[in-house]
Amino acid sequence: MSQKKNSIGITGGIGSGKTYICRLLEQRGIPVFYTDYEAKQEMLENRQLQKKLSDLTGSPIILSDGTLNKALLSAYIAQGEQYARHVDALVHPATRRRMRQWLKAQTCPVVAVECALLFESGYNEDVDYAIAVTAPEEVKIARVINRDGHSREHVLRIMALQLTDAERAAKADGVIVNDGTQPLEPQIDHLLHSITSK
Ligand code: ATP
Repeated sequence: MSQKKNSIGITGGIGSGKTYICRLLEQRGIPVFYTDYEAKQEMLENRQLQKKLSDLTGSPIILSDGTLNKALLSAYIAQGEQYARHVDALVHPATRRRMRQWLKAQTCPVVAVECALLFESGYNEDVDYAIAVTAPEEVKIARVINRDGHSREHVLRIMALQLTDAERAAKADGVIVNDGTQPLEPQIDHLLHSITSK
């Protein structure tokens, strides 16, 4: 009899530590689908998507050296929220298909999907459990400034476009508190135990 596969969506706001926690999951042998990275791979590989994005932005989305025209995409998205929505409307369905194929192909009993916009994009419907990573706002801001060198205002603008920790936690099946104080390993132990003992 084949073992039941459990998929966990790991979500959280900018700087909450989703990637940090997913690296800890990988250390435990859990495969992780990093949605942002995979969305970029999809744009690099999917010719139809490339054509649609090039038509939308008015310029080639792939540069002559085969890399993604990130400057074009950023400039297009920076024009306003509805522009970002046009890009999402093209990229999300393709990335979601990619995620579904990936989930289907996995053979590990537990797998994870890291996705900032898990609920906003509806990807939560494709995973068995949704886990929200939370951290106090000031901790998140300091992490992102430290990691990317962005200004505080830039981080606040991105946060304003995302769900709050409370909204995410209310939708999630569980929470991992990554405030830099509460140890993560026992929380991950608890999460994995509660999933695999069901
Ligand atoms: P984004 O949505 O911007 O990609 P994220 O939620 O994936 O953010 P991470 O990149 O995992 O956030 O974390 C932000 C920064 O904070 C990184 O530099 C990471 O190494 C650091 N960090 C996160 N959690 C911890 C922790 N518990 N201990 C030490 N550093 C941490």
